[in-house]
Amino acid sequence: MSTTFESLKLTRQYLNAIEELGYAAPTEVQQKAIPLILGGQDVIGIAQTGTGKTAAYLLPLMQTLKYAQGEDPRCLILAPTKELVIQIDKNIRELAKYTDLRWVCLYGGIGPKTQIEQLEAGVDLIVATPGRFLELYAKGVFVAKKIKHMVLDECDRMMDMGFWPQLRDIQEKLPQKKQQLLFSATFPDKVQRIADNFLLWPSRIEVTPQATPAATVAQVIYHTPNKQTKANLIKHLLRHSEDMTKVIIFTATKEDANILANMLDEERLGPLRLLHSNKGQNARINAIEDFKTNVVRLLISTDVSARGIDINEVSHVINFNIPTHYEDYVHRIGRTGRAFKTGIAISMYDVSEKYHVRHIEKLIRQTIEEKPIPDPKLVLGTTVAERQAQNKEIDRQKRLENPEFKGAFHEKKFKKDLSKDKKKKSPAKKAKPKKRTF
Ligand code: AMP
Repeated sequence: MSTTFESLKLTRQYLNAIEELGYAAPTEVQQKAIPLILGGQDVIGIAQTGTGKTAAYLLPLMQTLKYAQGEDPRCLILAPTKELVIQIDKNIRELAKYTDLRWVCLYGGIGPKTQIEQLEAGVDLIVATPGRFLELYAKGVFVAKKIKHMVLDECDRMMDMGFWPQLRDIQEKLPQKKQQLLFSATFPDKVQRIADNFLLWPSRIEVTPQATPAATVAQVIYHTPNKQTKANLIKHLLRHSEDMTKVIIFTATKEDANILANMLDEERLGPLRLLHSNKGQNARINAIEDFKTNVVRLLISTDVSARGIDINEVSHVINFNIPTHYEDYVHRIGRTGRAFKTGIAISMYDVSEKYHVRHIEKLIRQTIEEKPIPDPKLVLGTTVAERQAQNKEIDRQKRLENPEFKGAFHEKKFKKDLSKDKKKKSPAKKAKPKKRTF
């Protein structure tokens, strides 16, 4: 079965941090790189931003550094820009949450005073742009002789920005014997030159070029306040779009898949099949076969169940939830198109999923076209339980962005919302009672 973070031999403190971040499984580059780096090897990783490459080197390196030790840095991560240094800083803050490791970020554009103070207080790991690293080294603020691990992140960009002389300078100041990792989105000759000069018998790993959604897939997104509204919108679309002939609907959980399947079945919008882990192997195989051979119109699946299954050439993919494993978004929508001239990917997000939409748009480097809900009657009120779950999720996201944030579920606001709910008399209550609703 699929690789888990546990099977990558990460220690509990990292597994806990990963769990809190909500990463369901290691990404491809993480699966490939973590064991090699833990084994002390030099690694060339060809992976773009968005593939999870930062955690792919941070986790094994931090685990190797173990805990705060001595005064001098033992690991150096070089990045081309201040922005990338700040992004790496955020990743360390999240992943090192349950360790006592100390790290410093060095970049220009601000005075060096604070950075110097931090270095003098003792540090395990430095994340730096090459220029500021050399500047502070020259001032004698730290010694480099204990640096036994080094990462060149976004190496192609560093070369494009003309950092070759600085990189060579830095190499001369560090111990010869050290573990070296090189990450790069592309691998032109000039990056090859760095690898040849600095790395020793590196293992090369390459993750499939970041799937940018095919141009033939049209992507649209709807802002929907809750699951019940999402379900209504799906019903509406299925009823009114004759071209929706072969549709996969992805849900985050099997409960949602079950409820949605019942609703669509009741309204005869199928025929449909369900795919999730509670179904036996035979039922699953039959469901896939029936969908592939056009016996049924709809396949409702949890994303976990659909992973690795070869179903392509569908007319529409509907994301009932926004995948939190962002690469899944690209995989999911990649199933449309092909036989159909254009495939259509329809996603729905509630307020707590906006955060993930933003991340996905960053990953695919595109803005997904947002459409208004076609009929206001489709919009239903949010139940207290669902709103509470949404608020809790938003708090979790805020804490990820800012560890100082103290959320407590929007308690005050939540009380107000409750009273609003009473007064408004949610239209959901007027709706015909259903066997099971969201
Ligand atoms: P990177 O390629 O390192 O810039 O990472 C891109 C985004 O993916 C970051 O926002 C990470 O927090 C996120 N990420 C990293 N690893 C995982 C994972 N295993 N599952 C889900 N998200 C991840």
